Amino acid sequence: MSEWEKNLLDIAPYVAGEQPDNDKIIKLNANENPYPPSPMVEKALAELDAKELKKYPDANGTPLVKLLAEKHGIGTENVFVGNGSDDVLALSFRAFFNSDKPILYPDITYSFYPVWCDLLKIPYKLCPVDENFKIDPKDYYAENGGVVIANPNAPTSICEGKEFILDILEHNKDCVVIVDEAYVDFGTYSAVELISKYENLLVTQTFSKSRSLAGMRVGMAFGSEKLISCLKAVKDSYNSYPLDTAAQTAACAAIEDEVYFMRTVMRVKQTRDDTAQSLRELGFKVLESGTNFLFASHPDFSAEQIFSYLRENGIFVRYFKKPRIDNFLRITVGTDEQMKLMCELLTKLIIK
Ligand code: PMP
Repeated sequence: MSEWEKNLLDIAPYVAGEQPDNDKIIKLNANENPYPPSPMVEKALAELDAKELKKYPDANGTPLVKLLAEKHGIGTENVFVGNGSDDVLALSFRAFFNSDKPILYPDITYSFYPVWCDLLKIPYKLCPVDENFKIDPKDYYAENGGVVIANPNAPTSICEGKEFILDILEHNKDCVVIVDEAYVDFGTYSAVELISKYENLLVTQTFSKSRSLAGMRVGMAFGSEKLISCLKAVKDSYNSYPLDTAAQTAACAAIEDEVYFMRTVMRVKQTRDDTAQSLRELGFKVLESGTNFLFASHPDFSAEQIFSYLRENGIFVRYFKKPRIDNFLRITVGTDEQMKLMCELLTKLIIK
């Protein structure tokens, strides 16, 4: 065997929620928004002049960066945009987790973190969450090469407040702390306000969930000028045109329609809380959610059994066959009708 073959990367890539090629399937497996993006997005895309596509896009996403800076009352030098927060996070791991010491993150969290660590050869140490899946900030007092915390956490849906984030920041002044806020808009404290005080804090967010633009791949990071300029340098050493023209157009229109955004988020939260209640009435244990999904288990039916039963009936939810969470299902909040249908099916299974 030749040397390049022997040295081929031995990595286990991230596995995303399945995308079935069938409109009849109710997809509750990828934490997508059940509602379409703002009508302003549709209008902006319809008005996009195809002739413009002969040119490269704005390399820094300047109009979008400006809108995001205005929205958060920060400078444009504090904002970075990329191809979904996965791209922004991967670039951040590459840029900031460069120590021989391990980076720290919870044992139960976004399963892309170990994939990037393996790919980029970043040492890491898992800090076990407690029996209620809560993160103990004290675990992050240990010496480390960086910290990454999803808040709210996924797939547990649990969110933490300002004190928790401050505790971690106060004990980690010499490394970069990344707070992954993919689901923050569904009712969690956002640490963006802390970037002016903590030069080592990077907050990532996405348009994929609360702004219904998963198909456009738009994510962003907020941080000190130092962190953002470093991220830009890494991006420009790799792919200097990350956000295409259509994605920039759609994202700008989405940011400008605040009313639609608030209304959609409110609807999802209401459906989430109603569904959690219905599931609890069916005997499910449902964790308190600050996201657009629910993390639930049932004492009498295994998660795998429920997963297969729903799947046979045209509803896809997410099941992770992994230690500690292999009896839980992650259920994305859909429309009221979709959740009603799911609860009716579950009633048939459970009550008979
Ligand atoms: N962080 C977390 C915790 C997520 O669940 C996801 C969605 N898979 C992402 C980041 C990435 O989302 P996107 O790349 O669509 O912005």
